[in-house]
Amino acid sequence: MTNATTGAARIIRTVQKYGGSSVATADHIKRVAGRVAERRRKGEQMVVVVSAMGDTTDDLIELANAINPTPNQREMDVLLHTGEIVSSTLLSMALDALGVDAVSLTGAQAGIKTDAVYGRARIADIDATRMERELAAGRVVIVAGFQGISEDFDVTTLGRGGSDTTAVALAAALKATTCEIYTDVPGIFTADPRVVPEARPLRDIGYEEMLELASTGARVMHARAVEVGAIYDVPILVASTFDASAPGTLIHREMTMEQGNKVRGIAHQDKIAKVTVRGVPDRPGIAAQIFEPLAEAHVSVDTIVQNASVERLTDLTFTVAPGDLPRALEVINALMPKIGAREVVSAPDLGTVSIVGTGMASSPGYAARMFRTLFDHNVNIDMISTSDIRITCVVGSAQVADAVRALHAAFELERG
Ligand code: ASP
Ligand code: MG
Repeated sequence: MTNATTGAARIIRTVQKYGGSSVATADHIKRVAGRVAERRRKGEQMVVVVSAMGDTTDDLIELANAINPTPNQREMDVLLHTGEIVSSTLLSMALDALGVDAVSLTGAQAGIKTDAVYGRARIADIDATRMERELAAGRVVIVAGFQGISEDFDVTTLGRGGSDTTAVALAAALKATTCEIYTDVPGIFTADPRVVPEARPLRDIGYEEMLELASTGARVMHARAVEVGAIYDVPILVASTFDASAPGTLIHREMTMEQGNKVRGIAHQDKIAKVTVRGVPDRPGIAAQIFEPLAEAHVSVDTIVQNASVERLTDLTFTVAPGDLPRALEVINALMPKIGAREVVSAPDLGTVSIVGTGMASSPGYAARMFRTLFDHNVNIDMISTSDIRITCVVGSAQVADAVRALHAAFELERG
């Protein structure tokens, strides 16, 4: 990412992001303006990224589908990016009303260049020239989140929840002192508080741990925002817009010395589906033959397990999002004659529960404790997958909530 340096010493530069619920009404926007104005008056340079107001994005999607059930992706992105433009202009007006000089910028105006993959574009580069100029002029810069512009000057969006990624990428490009993500919850919890009432917000968490939590079910942060934060070493504070007394959670480089050897959080997914291809001939290239067509059909495959083969036949099992199951089965059924497997079976009603924490890797005790806890609560484990800092069990969908609660208690996460 390009970066124009300010040269000015000791100026605090802050990127803040406010989610849809934080800018849901005119009053909400005025409140956000008050908070931004306060920081600006203290002398901080402020860049503020906003999401669309409330459920605007969902409403726009619904509207598009009512017109055309398969809307053109390019037009869809142009439509959806307007939501963030509305909130950015209104916040600028609210700051103006408080006597604070501000300017709203679309993603394109802010210099956010992306590839041309509509609906889930990736940021390629940020030309911060315009933003630097506005900051140097003393203005608060308000950037419409979740959007950019392709090489061909087509508007793109970064995918649902993408304003987080805008904020962290801007913090990296502008070499901001801090990046603050304001939302309607007081931080990253040890588990989903709707499932576990004893869950509590973490004071801090490492990028890797946060990525594992985000990709296995904790939906507070856009996973790609955490990736960008990790690459550019941007500390990210996730905090509540509404509860100023809550300190929030700092996502940053891990401090293993203090937090090692601990499960940090329990993530879960309520619904996933499983596909098993039975009696697959065990020959080189067979996995590629199965998974390449799945990738081409944009089926995103999660856990994969291949059993040890018996008499040169093996079983291959993988999980997918329930919405992708019909497409996955279509692909596999079409492949059956070619790969010569015996049969395909699927199960739609599964979920996952994961324990996450650095320091688990070196210690087999965590896996044993997890499995014992699930057994004690009569939860059958369907599949197991692990990374260095995560253990995930696939279980029946109906047992996910019980499993999360049991594990939260077993690993004593209610204690600070
Ligand atoms: N407004 C978009 C969405 O609802 C992007 C965002 O909120 O970050 O997904
Ligand atoms: Mg939103």
